[in-house]
Amino acid sequence: MAWRTPFEGEIVAREESCRICHENVAIKIGLVDYWDIKTCRVVACSKCNHIQLDPMLNDEETSKGCFAYYVEEFLRTSKAEQFKNCERNFRRGVVFGSQLTKRNIVPKFVLELGPGSGYFAAGLQFVFPGIELTVMDINRDVLRFNQEHHGFQTIQGIPDVNLPSCNNKFDLVIARDILEHVSDISSVLDNVNEYLKPGGLFHFITPNGREDIWKHYLTAKLEKKPSELLINHVNYFDGKGLRDLLNRKGFSSLDYYTYTFKTTLKGEGWRENQKLKSVVSKKLKADAFVGKADDLKHVEFNKAKILDKWYIRPKAKWITRWYSVYHHFNLFKISPYYNIGHEIYGLFRKTGEE
Ligand SMILES: [Zn+2]
Repeated sequence: MAWRTPFEGEIVAREESCRICHENVAIKIGLVDYWDIKTCRVVACSKCNHIQLDPMLNDEETSKGCFAYYVEEFLRTSKAEQFKNCERNFRRGVVFGSQLTKRNIVPKFVLELGPGSGYFAAGLQFVFPGIELTVMDINRDVLRFNQEHHGFQTIQGIPDVNLPSCNNKFDLVIARDILEHVSDISSVLDNVNEYLKPGGLFHFITPNGREDIWKHYLTAKLEKKPSELLINHVNYFDGKGLRDLLNRKGFSSLDYYTYTFKTTLKGEGWRENQKLKSVVSKKLKADAFVGKADDLKHVEFNKAKILDKWYIRPKAKWITRWYSVYHHFNLFKISPYYNIGHEIYGLFRKTGEE
């Protein structure tokens, strides 16, 4: 049983060249239905190994599928769960902020790409009350919520397109669970670099692509059928490839590790097991969910109530402490180079080198 099984597949000519190195040849490792919007191959670049959809989703397809997913997720998530997610993100923001204080880093101008509920940034602001927070998103509702609920400054935009007004402005740029969604990862990293002041920090989390792609790979291999892709993961990073790319884009690593091993223990990402394959496409129709947009009832988020709860639950307190110990003493950090673990954590510094 190999710890890392290399992907097998036929060598194909790509419909679109690699977004990172522009190579036109790849290994086909899967086939996915992005809703009923588009069927794409999943390919691993023959030159740089980066795994992407081919062809890539265009902006219109992305925006339709993302909205359908937003409605679908909202309808299956209870209010209690939504509250819990906010608490959890707030806690993570606090933990992240406390890690920065241990390095004597005090950011002032912070940009978060794709902030979601904004509670991670709110947690960071809890640690650094003097911080000035700006959030960037394509979705107006997300921006309105962040503005009204947290008082953050907002910018409508996508990370792939450079906004000159942001250049050289920020001490810290945050992109949590964003990099796997962007069609042009190369431009996104260039833009993050531009937005940062010299020596500024870039924090991200992104799924370990080897585990994230595994069910699609197995479905293609075992069933020879497309699997379903409801959320637009279009990039699947491997630990070494992502770090090399960041280095080439002018970032040096302060902290780079992988975490959450529940999925790894199940063998997702290295074991070939029928049970691990994806549900074969149910052909969900995006329009059916887009049409239910009116069912979204506005959830009244009571921030005071959420913040009241984030740390006093015994479990939460324990987790926060455990996290601090874990990070403070640098214990048990596993390199993403092994391509195990569910998520990759990165904290990088802009070096100014190209
Ligand atoms: Zn490539």
